[in-house]
Amino acid sequence: MRINFTESKVKKEKPNSENLGFGKYFTDHMFIMDYTEGKGWHDARIVPFENISLSPAAMVFHYGQEMFEGLKAYRTKNNDILLFRPDKNIERMNNTNERLCIPKINPDDVLEAIKELVKAEQDWVPSLPGTSLYIRPFIFATDPFLGVKPAQNYIFCIILSPVGAYYKEGINPVKIFVETEYVRAVKGGIGFAKAGGNYAASLCGQKKAYDLGYSQVLWLDGVHRKYIDEVGTMNVFFVIDNEVITPMLEGSILPGVTRASALDIVKSWGYKVSERRISVDEVFEAQKTGKLNEAFGTGTAAVISPIGLLDRETEKIIINDGKIGNISQRLYDTLTGIQWGLLPDTFGWTVKVK
Ligand SMILES: *Cc1c(COP(=O)(O)O)cnc(C)c1O
Repeated sequence: MRINFTESKVKKEKPNSENLGFGKYFTDHMFIMDYTEGKGWHDARIVPFENISLSPAAMVFHYGQEMFEGLKAYRTKNNDILLFRPDKNIERMNNTNERLCIPKINPDDVLEAIKELVKAEQDWVPSLPGTSLYIRPFIFATDPFLGVKPAQNYIFCIILSPVGAYYKEGINPVKIFVETEYVRAVKGGIGFAKAGGNYAASLCGQKKAYDLGYSQVLWLDGVHRKYIDEVGTMNVFFVIDNEVITPMLEGSILPGVTRASALDIVKSWGYKVSERRISVDEVFEAQKTGKLNEAFGTGTAAVISPIGLLDRETEKIIINDGKIGNISQRLYDTLTGIQWGLLPDTFGWTVKVK
């Protein structure tokens, strides 16, 4: 693929790596490519990071035909820059596209676009421990047309954001609210797709949880309101009687790259690992009988997020005395070790940008 490069005249001042936070700063350039029906994806280019001009009638504003991905680039001690399993994100991107009637993109072209953009912006990959460069590819429908149908024109864009260490003062277990009123997704819907629409549907429940003093929502399945789906922006794991359990992928859950990686790692450690339905009753019951060892969320942003408390309105449980569990800590150390090149990449998961 030919990628045209237009260098930005203004170079922004780089933010202080100590307080990057998440998703607040953007680099000098972005990648853009257009899709036109009959012509396919064309005009790949890296251009200055700037506003995008669209018709107010652009279909994305009205019918929400939009998808996104999220992955990170990590700077190693030797100043290499690594991506973590980008092939998995690209495969998921095309699965999302298929579900949303968005034209697929050649996976090799997506990887090339990511690598070239990160290479062009390599000075923006921060080096403080725990920091990284977040990569956000996304696609949206641009036809100026009011009518519900798959669009004929799209933009594929990639932007980059330097992000801070998720845990500055050690890993703090989070408090989570079990949501029984709202649901995020149902089988047959778009829960397995990384689409903005899923997040729009989740905001109300998320806000309710925040207002009650919780940091995230635990979503239950939309049919029985009984089985656990996932947590806000993370997949979820429970360790019961030394069995590592995560809900199976049945269509309503986002198939996380961190989830898949955590499963491979705990299997390699010899644990009994199950992808199966797990009800919220089973979790609360396991706590009562002393068999709930630990619980944690997995996702690119936090990597591993231990769960210290679950509230389902009628009762609350404190998990592992509100402390991080052994498997959570070990998984966090292993995953981040591989990502920052501090541990041998025995699974062959990292891809060098430079
Ligand atoms: C992105 C996302 C995850 C985590 O996926 P990773 O690939 O591990 O980052 C989990 N749940 C939802 C709803 C997501 O959007």
